[in-house]
Amino acid sequence: MTATLMDGKTVAARVRADVATRVAELAEQSAVRPGLATILVGDDPASHVYVASKRKACVASGMTDHHRHLPAETTQHDLEATIDEAADDPAVSGILVQLPLPPHLDSDAAIARIPAGKDVDGLTTVSAGLLSRGQIGLRPCTPAGVVELLDTYSIPLAGAHVVIVGRSALVGRPLGQLLLARDATVTICHSKTQRLAEHTRQADILIAAAGVRGLIGAEHVRPGATVIDVGIHRTPEGLCGDVDFDQVHRVAGHLTPVPGGVGPMTIAMLLSNTVTAAHATVSR
Ligand code: NAP
Repeated sequence: MTATLMDGKTVAARVRADVATRVAELAEQSAVRPGLATILVGDDPASHVYVASKRKACVASGMTDHHRHLPAETTQHDLEATIDEAADDPAVSGILVQLPLPPHLDSDAAIARIPAGKDVDGLTTVSAGLLSRGQIGLRPCTPAGVVELLDTYSIPLAGAHVVIVGRSALVGRPLGQLLLARDATVTICHSKTQRLAEHTRQADILIAAAGVRGLIGAEHVRPGATVIDVGIHRTPEGLCGDVDFDQVHRVAGHLTPVPGGVGPMTIAMLLSNTVTAAHATVSR
């Protein structure tokens, strides 16, 4: 068997085109143009690259860019004042604080300043609570992107056994909640899980989000299963994931490549959340 590759680039391009249409419709109906405030502290090169691509995608879909760049030595007080200012700015529909922050800053306290209605990364405690209660709210971008990919490839979720490797607040936990809400049976594994392969081999859908390069090999996968690789690792040979692609593509039914799988979906879902947040302010 050779797995069907799940093309995140193409799916993300479709989501971004839908976002551009929604932005244009909103501007026509209400004169509101969605705006994204990215807040970057310091000079981490990878963070600069991520923020630049988010800003570019935001402008390309017709939204306004309200970027704020603060120096590495910014105090917690000044960071929170910047977030508060964006929170009060009617031109800003969504706020994203780029993580990680420099170590002297408290990222939980900073993120807690973002009002739930502008939390387009879906990472505040309020957004996590709304998700766990099944209530309307903005969902974290990478987990939402995984669900969008599964839906696009018509992978059935109701009744499916999904095994997620990783329980972070950013990926594993919210993904588990999203899939539970879609009536999947969800198992979440982590670093203390014993005999990992015994769990993962039961999966109809296996999602690797451990941040361990090549963790998932052929022995972890039931033949024909769908395998989603959230991991991203920079190597001298280029990007790779948590899944050993060469082994697993011979066993899986569907598989996301790295790069070009989950990665492009994250920014697409950020844009989608931003236009959703702008809609909510109009209908209030
Ligand atoms: P994280 O916060 O480090 O969490 C990793 C999780 O994996 C933890 O729950 C950890 O367990 C578990 N884990 C670690 N080693 C394990 C092992 N050997 N067996 C089973 N579970 C193990 O990482 P994250 O932020 O969720 O990110 C995970 C990966 O996704 C990273 O490679 C990251 O770069 C990537 N990522 C990609 C995107 C994207 O857009 N594609 C977005 C976000 C993250 P414990 O809880 O027990 O420590």
